[in-house]
Amino acid sequence: MAELEFDYLIVGAGFAGSVLAERLASDSNKSVLLIDRRPHIGGNAYDYFNHDGILIHQYGPHIFHTNSQRILDYLSRFTEWRAYEHRVLADVDGQLLPIPINLTTLNKLYGLNMDAEQAEKFLAARAEPVADIKTSEDVVINQIGTELYEKFFRGYTKKQWGLDPSELDKSVTSRVPTRTNDDDRYFQDEFQQMPLHGYTAMFKKMVDHPNIKTLLNVDYRVVKNTIKYGHLIFTGPIDEYFDYCFGKLPYRSLEFRHVTVDKPQFQSVAVVNYPDEQIKHTRITEYKYLTGQVHDKTALTYEVPQAEGDPYYPIPRPQNAALYKEYQALAEATPEVTFVGRLATYKYYNMDQVVGQALATYQRLVTVEADSALVMATALKET
Ligand code: FAD
Ligand code: UDP
Repeated sequence: MAELEFDYLIVGAGFAGSVLAERLASDSNKSVLLIDRRPHIGGNAYDYFNHDGILIHQYGPHIFHTNSQRILDYLSRFTEWRAYEHRVLADVDGQLLPIPINLTTLNKLYGLNMDAEQAEKFLAARAEPVADIKTSEDVVINQIGTELYEKFFRGYTKKQWGLDPSELDKSVTSRVPTRTNDDDRYFQDEFQQMPLHGYTAMFKKMVDHPNIKTLLNVDYRVVKNTIKYGHLIFTGPIDEYFDYCFGKLPYRSLEFRHVTVDKPQFQSVAVVNYPDEQIKHTRITEYKYLTGQVHDKTALTYEVPQAEGDPYYPIPRPQNAALYKEYQALAEATPEVTFVGRLATYKYYNMDQVVGQALATYQRLVTVEADSALVMATALKET
């Protein structure tokens, strides 16, 4: 039998692919070929220094947050961290107000001076109970009523997804809670921090191993018949892998407009959201808040949602879940390939969830291999 060139071929050098490459190479001593069709590692978390020397995220703001000590410990092997708690303001009725909606938001918006208890009653009086909460509209209206929904959620969601919130699963707007205290942090996770030298530096360390060969600007579709490998791990879009045999899975795309402004500071927080449907962008990010970089200029990204382009967001709604299920069944009938990551499992996952999924996938691969080695040894003994 011809010797395999690589034990594993991994398609995609984002979190899913890089974590698996690292685990297989350094924990199981496997040889790995890691390919990506982009000219860089890191997937959507890729960051780089722009022409002005400011560290920016090519694919929009990536803020790390998790409740998992295990995931944090794993990533801490490849990076140090800087403490960072994310804060976001929304441009509503001519004011910049904290989002998630909190006590300050309500007091400023309505010119009141409520305490937490009063704010709770205030929201309870506005909430419009929905018996069976299914959609992204239901979940918000049930909690805070139509007026606040219209001001903070409807326009933003319509722009971001190209759909009315009533057409999206409740899981989408459920990501953004409502609070009656004055906690103005975007996330409440136990661990909130940014890689000290950026994501790309962290990825470089992760895949820097003699057992890992990384090739960039290489599309799996072009090279698939030219590489010898034992097992394939695929982290790209699952529908693309199966040549769209059941039809295209919808993904939402974005245009990222990167600009540098010739002053040290542009806005008062890292991200300002624009729920107004008349404004094309959904949010503006100012990176220096995330990175702590000191610079005379400042770099921003405007995010403008679009239907066509790179697939960034799986779109959570019932008909898409049903279509994904067809691909998932096909994937299960294709044991020579492992599908993992946001695009390959069609899940609206944050970075830490993808790392968790990749670590669990690694454990499964190791167990399957140990089981088949045992079967082989038993069979040999019996002959
Ligand atoms: P990806 O990062 O998409 O990597 C997949 C890789 O596969 C890509 O690099 C792609 O080029 C490659 N590929 C695909 N097909 C092929 C092929 N045929 N041949 C070769 N290569 C191929 N998460 C957070 O936790 N916090 C945030 O603040 C946050 N902000 C986000 C903001 C935006 C705008 C977006 C889009 C996502 C954000 N996320 C955030 C989510 C985060 O980006 C993902 O959870 C994570 O990057 C997914 O990793 P992945 O490896 O599954 O996929
Ligand atoms: N959302 C909104 N208004 C906001 C912020 C969020 O309507 O000011 C909704 C919108 O549908 C968005 C979803 O909540 O897509 C999830 O927001 P999140 O900030 O988690 O989105 P992501 O960072 O993943 O793009």
